[in-house]
Amino acid sequence: MTKANPMADEMRRFKGTDEKNPFEAMSERFDRAAQLLGLDPDLYAVLRVPSREIKVYIPVKMDSGHIQVFEGYRVQHNFARGPAKGGIRYAPDVSLDEVKALSAWMTWKCAVVNVPFGGGKGGIICDPRQMSMGELERMTRRYTAELIDFIGPDKDVPAPDMNTNEQTMAWIMDTYSMHARHTVTAVVTGKPVALGGSLGRREATGRGVMFCVNEAIKRFNLTPEQTTVVVQGSGNVGGIGAELMYEKGYKIIAISDVSGGIYNKNGINIPEALAYLNDNKTFEGYENADVVGNSELLEIECDVLAPCATENQITSENAGRIKCKILAEGANGPTTPKADKILFDNGVFVIPDILANAGGVTVSYFEWVQDRMGYFWREDEVNQRLEEKMVASFNELWKLADAHNVDTRTAAYMLAIDRVAYDTRMRGIYA
Ligand code: NAD
Repeated sequence: MTKANPMADEMRRFKGTDEKNPFEAMSERFDRAAQLLGLDPDLYAVLRVPSREIKVYIPVKMDSGHIQVFEGYRVQHNFARGPAKGGIRYAPDVSLDEVKALSAWMTWKCAVVNVPFGGGKGGIICDPRQMSMGELERMTRRYTAELIDFIGPDKDVPAPDMNTNEQTMAWIMDTYSMHARHTVTAVVTGKPVALGGSLGRREATGRGVMFCVNEAIKRFNLTPEQTTVVVQGSGNVGGIGAELMYEKGYKIIAISDVSGGIYNKNGINIPEALAYLNDNKTFEGYENADVVGNSELLEIECDVLAPCATENQITSENAGRIKCKILAEGANGPTTPKADKILFDNGVFVIPDILANAGGVTVSYFEWVQDRMGYFWREDEVNQRLEEKMVASFNELWKLADAHNVDTRTAAYMLAIDRVAYDTRMRGIYA
């Protein structure tokens, strides 16, 4: 009689064909790492799917006086190592599959940097650019009230993501506290510093990207001054990452935002260019560089390419034309699994997203710790602890990649899955 193989059955069940579906992209990497680890099929079945998917309908009184009902999600992927942790995204194209993928990435990311959280993510289908502050506040408070039984410092700790910010977190913290009848700062991270936020949190993701790049260039015997960098995205991750790398001496030769970018092979004065972007809402018209489109920008010859904008930027279509030595993934999911193989064959050194952008969740963890003890650290202490975590995780990952002779993304998933699987087995959750 043939022995049942639930792992193979599961893999077949989930096998998708859509290169740009983020949950399929996550699952493909998970499967490869699980197979290489020889993960127990029962554990595989547990870790492959989220623990909980919550869908809420949020009635909001709009400024017109009418009620509009928004659809929102919170997915809690895993609790084996601690409360779920992850951002909330407001965008018209939010989907359950995207939120599921992002929540799983949070589980693996927290495990890679070894912070005691599981993974979660939330989102509301809406167009925040078309909404007033009052409408956004009412929507945020109602969404929080709908989730009140599922979030909390020991259950699930949201944070900002695309189109949400410290104001959103302050509203969530206040709504949760109204229900708890006392102030609960540790229910969210990424809050204003005056309301229990952490110094250094705003810069943490960009700073974490830089710490990884600092380590990676050593493998190419480069110093920051000898290293050319291209950055896609000028927001919290790309803009701040570019600014910190510029201060450190890196030569940033191109940078973009959603409407396009600028290129100067001799280097761009990043504080000046970002001030121009801030004043004009576009790089267009900036004098000391040439205009470059976002897809062209990815193909510029450079030492470090840092996609820090959005998903699916490097696909099977353009991966063969990427000419960087090091790919530092500031964004979540910028590279598809099909592109991974092409980059690997071309010898591109990838710092995978679940490590490269983990600086944000690391300082979110520090914020949660500070809130719970009611004692706040100096900014230099936060930055130093962040550097220690990022450098240690980077080196651990590379040791594993070398030992198993696998690409760095697979090594990151192996490291993460191994940690979560160990804790799950020890707790006996699935027994
Ligand atoms: P943001 O909104 O602050 O900035 C996004 C930037 O990307 C903007 O400059 C925008 O103009 C640009 N952009 C958007 N769509 C684009 C497109 N299609 N092509 C080119 N540029 C585009 O967002 P952020 O917080 O910097 O997040 C960027 C990415 O990093 C996301 O994938 C997010 O999930 C990930 N991330 C963010 C954090 C964090 O702490 N902010 C932490 C981990 C991961």
